[in-house]
Amino acid sequence: MRIEENKPLAPFTTLGIGGPARWFVAAKNEEEIVEASTWAREKGIPLFVLGGGSNLLVSDTGFNGLVLHIGLKGISVRETAGSSHERVYQVAAGEGWDQFVQRTVDDECAGLECLAGIPGTVGGTPVQNVGAYGQEVATTIDSVRVFNLRETRFDTFSKKLCDFGYRRSLFNSQSGNWFVVTRVDFCLAPGGAPSLKYADLQREFSLATTPTLKQVADTVRSIRQSKGMLLVDGDPDCHSAGSFFKNPIVSEAHVERIASTAASEPPRFPAGPDHSNMVKLSAAWLIEKAGFTKGYSFGHAGISRKHTLALVNHGGATAAEILALAHKIRSAVVARFGIELQMEPVMLGFDS
Ligand SMILES: Cc1cc2nc3c(=O)[nH]c(=O)nc-3n(C[C@H](O)[C@H](O)[C@H](O)COP(=O)(O)OP(=O)(O)OC[C@H]3O[C@@H](n4cnc5c(N)ncnc54)[C@H](O)[C@@H]3O)c2cc1C
Repeated sequence: MRIEENKPLAPFTTLGIGGPARWFVAAKNEEEIVEASTWAREKGIPLFVLGGGSNLLVSDTGFNGLVLHIGLKGISVRETAGSSHERVYQVAAGEGWDQFVQRTVDDECAGLECLAGIPGTVGGTPVQNVGAYGQEVATTIDSVRVFNLRETRFDTFSKKLCDFGYRRSLFNSQSGNWFVVTRVDFCLAPGGAPSLKYADLQREFSLATTPTLKQVADTVRSIRQSKGMLLVDGDPDCHSAGSFFKNPIVSEAHVERIASTAASEPPRFPAGPDHSNMVKLSAAWLIEKAGFTKGYSFGHAGISRKHTLALVNHGGATAAEILALAHKIRSAVVARFGIELQMEPVMLGFDS
């Protein structure tokens, strides 16, 4: 284990922003995770777990603690016994997410094809229950192996214990942020049909024939690219942390009030089984109606030209600029609709 000092963090994030980590270590196996966490505990310094840095805003002053970069690699596969033929992929947390999705698509195993093109690591996906185009990882995760920093032992959590919700899990809740994910097990369907729940996807395929998993994954990547939501060299609109704001979940009555004052109907979606009598609103619609359009510029930061929800670094942006823009947008949405948008990326190195 090699601990580095004053390591710049910006190159480890998709926003390309942020100061240095006071200490930094890249862990290649579970033993190094234990070693690094013991080192931090004995010195009484805070520890932050870093995956692909694709859902992260690091402060301009950096992080005064140990950044533990997860570099664990390896995928093993086993078939389940019994009548329901399923395949379990045991994937080390540091594997690249999109590469793993492509592997399952090549193996003709259904369940992750709509999540193609999302950046980051496999270990990052259960943290906010990554989702897109009608799929979320909670559906196919079988279990998550973690190192429990508080109890200093390894545990394996079943899907139920992970307590998944919309962009939520045990691992990003108050009571669970002392877990380092080391492996995720996914249970997929060999030969299964692709999921086509999302309107954007249904439009792409004729309903007469079922597309292959590969066709769906490729289409998802190309839709993502058109929205600046795929990491593509040379595309200035992908220097983001993905969606900067979550879609808010509000009461039916609140939506009706908005509809009565807005010129057009707000797009709304079911909020899921945890939220009866509530609906999910489009954060992008609220932001646009509050006066912010794609391509909006604010110093070196701005809104992507291809997606209203992505705040981008146009080159040389500071974390302070990104936060000031986020604050401006949130204030305008509160003033217009009485809704406080929640930020999706994790904030590192800020006071509160
Ligand atoms: C262009 C773009 C498009 C995106 N599209 C989507 C999308 O469609 N849907 C979606 O849900 N998200 C999307 N995201 C957000 C992001 O890609 C996901 O949240 C991703 O899973 C984050 O993984 P990561 O490894 O990069 O985590 P990081 O950004 O490194 O970390 C994020 C959080 O997870 C924690 N974490 C990471 N790894 C571990 C681990 N091994 N153990 C414990 N905690 C860990 C970190 O401590 C931090 O709190 C997008 C981002 C970008 C830049």
